[in-house]
This record gives sequence, C-alpha cells and structure tokens, in this order.
Amino acid sequence: MDQDTGEMIKDLKTYLEYLKGLGIVSYPLSERSLQKMTPSEFLTLKDVQKELGDCKRCKLHRTRRTIVFGEGNEKAALMLIGEGPGYEEDVQGRPFVGKAGQLLTKILQSIKFPREEVYITNIIKCRPPQNRNPEPEEIQSCHPFLQKQIQVIRPKIICALGTFSAQTLLKTGVKITALRGKLYDLEGIKVIPTYHPAFLLRNPERKREVWEDMKKIAEWLGMNHRSI
Ligand code: URA
Repeated sequence: MDQDTGEMIKDLKTYLEYLKGLGIVSYPLSERSLQKMTPSEFLTLKDVQKELGDCKRCKLHRTRRTIVFGEGNEKAALMLIGEGPGYEEDVQGRPFVGKAGQLLTKILQSIKFPREEVYITNIIKCRPPQNRNPEPEEIQSCHPFLQKQIQVIRPKIICALGTFSAQTLLKTGVKITALRGKLYDLEGIKVIPTYHPAFLLRNPERKREVWEDMKKIAEWLGMNHRSI
C-alpha cells in the first residue's frame, strides 16, 4: 500500500471516529476491518491498545486485575521487553514498577536514559497467577500485539530482558546465558538479550554482565540516543 492510500485510510478512520461521536454507528465497513487495513506505519500505540481492548484471548484474563500494555516514548530509540507483569504491575497497570522495576530504572539511569525516554513492555500483558512462567498459548495470544508495538515504535535497539523475552523474540530455545550480550537482528532492529532484573536481585554478582550490555547499547545509540 502506498503512502497516499495509507493516509486516506487514516483520515477515513478519524472521520468514522467523528461520526461515532455524533452517534452514527452504522456504516458498511466495520472498525475492526478498518483497523486491519491500516498499514503499520500509520498505526499508533493507541490503535494497538484499542484493538487489544479488554482482552480475553487467553485464560490470564480470569485472574488479572489490569492489562499492563506498556509505557514510554512512542518514538523511543530503545525498547525494553520483559517477561510479564508481577503483583505490583498488575495493581498499578504499569510495567516494571516493583522491586525489579526499580532496579531496571537504576540500570537505565546508569546509561543516562530516563525511563520516560524509552519504551517498556512485556511479552505477555497480564500477570500469571503466583507469577508462574508464561505458557506458550499465553505468549502466542499476546504476540501479535507485541509485534504491532514494535512496528509502531520501530526502535533502533530492543533489549530483551530474560529468558522468555529473548527466546520469544529470537524464536529460539537457546539459554539466556548463551544469548546474553550478543547482537541479533529482528527485521532490521538490533536485539540484545540480557539478564532479567529480577534475576539480578537474586544474583547480584551478575550485575557486571548487564552493565557491559548496557554500555554496548549506549555505544550503539551514540550521542544521538535521545529520540526527542
Ligand atoms: N517483571 C517483568 O518481566 N515485567 C514486569 O513488568 C515486572 C516484572
């Protein structure tokens, strides 16, 4: 689809929203099919979140309190992807706000990245009961939305935090110890897996490796890492 067509669809979508606001809700094309037709370069995170809606695509909806979609800069050069919300995240509806999140914030500060400048999300958007590992169907249900978030943001670098994030993004079963610190390509976007901050809380002696990975990220982004 060329740019003009994409823009026309975007305008049409805005017009339909306007009509909806006026109470006109019956038109021959559903909002859903319009959403599907919108090319990714014209999608926004709001569109993706709207499509996700009050998601009941997997069983996690029965036990979650909130959907933790993600937060941060829509034009971020650096995107961090964790595993899934924990207790605090489920309560607050924000990613990485518990103990692991506080450590992540410090790690980001160490490379002079304020949290607001990056985009943070997870492989799965709902907390698994008792913080158990995400199941393959749960990861699969969420994956199209994660892919759209990545397409909208088009970061320069994705930092995959921990096993589930790295293995899902890189479609591999290789252990995080082997994946960590190396550079991979995801459709033109650099991916660097590193240890999950929760792992670092249990194994503080591994912080040095994450520090090395963060330094690489800072180097790759260079002086122009600030996206605004
Ligand atoms: N751990 C994660 O992987 N994600 C969060 O948002 C919080 C803890």
